[in-house]
Amino acid sequence: MAGQKMLKFVTLGKEMPTKRDADTRSHDFDEIYRQFAVEKAAEQASRCSQCGVPYCQSHCPLHNNIPDWLRLTAEGRLEEAYELSQATNTFPEICGRICPQDRLCEGNCVIEQSGHGTVTIGSVEKYLTDKAWEMGWVKPIAPRAQRSESVGIIGAGPGGLAAADVLRRAGVQVTVYDRYDRAGGLLTYGIPGFKLEKPVVMQRIEQLEAGGVSFVLNCKVGEDLSFDAIRGQHDAILIATGVYKARDIEAPGVGAKGIVRALDYLTASNRKSFGDEVAEFDSGELNAEGKRVVVIGGGDTAMDCVRTAIRQGATSVKCLYRRDKANMPGSQRETQNAEEEGVEFVWLSAPKGFTGGTTVEGVMVQKMRLGAPDSSGRQTPELIEGADYIEPADLVVQALGFEPEAVPTLWGVPDLAVTRWGTIKADFRTHATNLPGVYAAGDIVRGASLVVWAIRDGREAADSILAYLAQPASVAAE
Ligand code: FAD
Ligand code: SF4
Ligand code: SF4
Repeated sequence: MAGQKMLKFVTLGKEMPTKRDADTRSHDFDEIYRQFAVEKAAEQASRCSQCGVPYCQSHCPLHNNIPDWLRLTAEGRLEEAYELSQATNTFPEICGRICPQDRLCEGNCVIEQSGHGTVTIGSVEKYLTDKAWEMGWVKPIAPRAQRSESVGIIGAGPGGLAAADVLRRAGVQVTVYDRYDRAGGLLTYGIPGFKLEKPVVMQRIEQLEAGGVSFVLNCKVGEDLSFDAIRGQHDAILIATGVYKARDIEAPGVGAKGIVRALDYLTASNRKSFGDEVAEFDSGELNAEGKRVVVIGGGDTAMDCVRTAIRQGATSVKCLYRRDKANMPGSQRETQNAEEEGVEFVWLSAPKGFTGGTTVEGVMVQKMRLGAPDSSGRQTPELIEGADYIEPADLVVQALGFEPEAVPTLWGVPDLAVTRWGTIKADFRTHATNLPGVYAAGDIVRGASLVVWAIRDGREAADSILAYLAQPASVAAE
């Protein structure tokens, strides 16, 4: 009986895989969590109470069939558990590592709500898929029949790659274009190795290549190749280019040397982990070693920057955020990891300007307090007069978020409809844009979001493209 194996949350406590101790892990870029042993994965899965209405599942953007694969894991039926988990998720090992589970599946687990500590869903998902790779259960992409239609995907991030996987499995000819020299988007060059080791991403790209997906890298659409040229070569197009325009601080001194953008900083660090030559890193411009570092922002990107600076050997790392801990947008789990590794958070603080002339020497900090809630219910930070001070800094990283680039202008397609925020307008269900045969998915539609949402969009867009390709040509052209 399945029930005998389950519902153990009353007697068994929540356990995450063990974390490497902060002193050791803060010197390298390896992932910080160790793997579950098989018994531990089964034990933790057995805590699930097998809810009739599983809130974990409804709050997972992919609607993963979580209770069923937890039960199979608890019963030791790992291959079946993996099969079920991969049926709804193209990259379960990636989501298991980097989804903010505390805001999604695990945060809505009923036993978390009842005070017993959530089922560690993400860690079990990661365990199952890592095991599947190890055991050879991950199926190669081998379409039953080849189709003549071809689809061009612009952007090799999780949105584009999830779509490529679905389309290629259906036998469609798929070409993915990307301006970087490696595929993976932010999985490769944004998110640091201590959250997501790069071989985990690369093995998926190799799988896609082995399955017949063509990659055209170092190809910036709009410069190296026009959008119209790509459109002319394929029967349908998916735009999955993400959002990359950094929000800069507007304050006196912001152009000084030593004030850098988060993504430039993280990309340089990730490239070094691949063994690339990175001139801006070697010159010290994008390297925190021996420096007093201040990171400005309170989201996941800021957390990745502070923890990268610690690993590069900064002498001190401070994170300035204008609200308090309870109101920061970043994951609480990541904030705790950063604190353990030696990051100092300076809450209720905002930059007013920078000292030092051509090279930054400090941040002029103004102190804030939280006032009345705004229309979204969040308390608005208000300035405390006369409490300013200077925080010494040799490197300042701006991590204030990202906006979409002006795709219609940059690509010379003024007819492509965008929203007033500059994101591409696409039907929320089909992901079709206003141009026939052109679809869009991921951050370029949602604004800066999450990997799991990009995967969902990519999968759904691919299904819509398959339906579009199946239409008679006269209908599709309308
Ligand atoms: P992207 O991953 O951005 O990929 C877009 C691709 O399009 C890129 O490879 C880019 O080079 C390419 N491209 C853009 N323009 C062109 C062009 N003109 N021509 C050719 N190619 C082009 N999410 C999580 O769920 N968990 C996390 O822990 C997390 N951490 C993050 C940390 C950082 C530092 C950042 C910046 C984001 C993080 N995110 C995280 C968010 C997540 O990475 C994104 O939501 C997700 O990658 C979006 O996927 P995407 O496919 O839409 O775009
Ligand atoms: Fe949770 Fe993300 Fe996995 Fe869904 S994909 S079950 S939200 S870790
Ligand atoms: Fe199991 Fe929690 Fe999901 Fe309920 S909400 S099915 S207990 S994981």
